[in-house]
Amino acid sequence: MSILRKFFVFIILFLPVTLLLSCRSPRITAPQKQIALTFDDGPDSVYTEKVLKVLKRFHVHATFFLIGSSVEKYPLLVKKVEAAGHCIGNHSYHHLNFWNLSCEQLMNNEILRTQELIFNLTGRKPRFYRPPYGYILDSCQTSLQSRNYVISEWDVDPRDWDIEHNSTKSIEEFTMKFAKDKSIVLLHCGSGDRSKTVKALSHIITYFRSENYQFVRLDELLNTNAYFP
Ligand SMILES: [Zn+2]
Repeated sequence: MSILRKFFVFIILFLPVTLLLSCRSPRITAPQKQIALTFDDGPDSVYTEKVLKVLKRFHVHATFFLIGSSVEKYPLLVKKVEAAGHCIGNHSYHHLNFWNLSCEQLMNNEILRTQELIFNLTGRKPRFYRPPYGYILDSCQTSLQSRNYVISEWDVDPRDWDIEHNSTKSIEEFTMKFAKDKSIVLLHCGSGDRSKTVKALSHIITYFRSENYQFVRLDELLNTNAYFP
């Protein structure tokens, strides 16, 4: 058999099998990395809606830590956040530094009060609690965890709250430099001018998407329930 004939016999006999096998074997792709964007201090009459708009444009779901006193003021915004498929967490009622409150006072005056407000609007009671300024006594943390709350801190803080010293660029660059797989990014959609955050957001999303990241809610990132049953 000439070399050319052998080649054709090989093609006729084995090519269909090779093709079939290549079609059946799953395509191997790198697993997607995950990031959770979190927005504190809402709802806010101006910036919460702007943040929602950007997230909607990119089909991104995030987590919003709401302040009870603002929930009372802007109930429709709370419903909007919930209806858009975002996750809602509790960020206390007064948003103060609660160093002088007992755990019981913190629970009754700040957390449960906010839980009720969120429940009345959404029918859900959040398990995620983010202490204002990230400050909580160890004893209160233990007490909340024993009641099945999840204390939600963060690992990336681009300091969007520091409006005197930051810029849209610094918020973007800090996040791009330090966020990694499973990062929780602290951003704000209330308590001040958040226009730099809103501007930075689309660049942050575009950058991490190009790096094979998926944006997820906190409950998805931590693989736990966002709300009490
Ligand atoms: Zn806050």
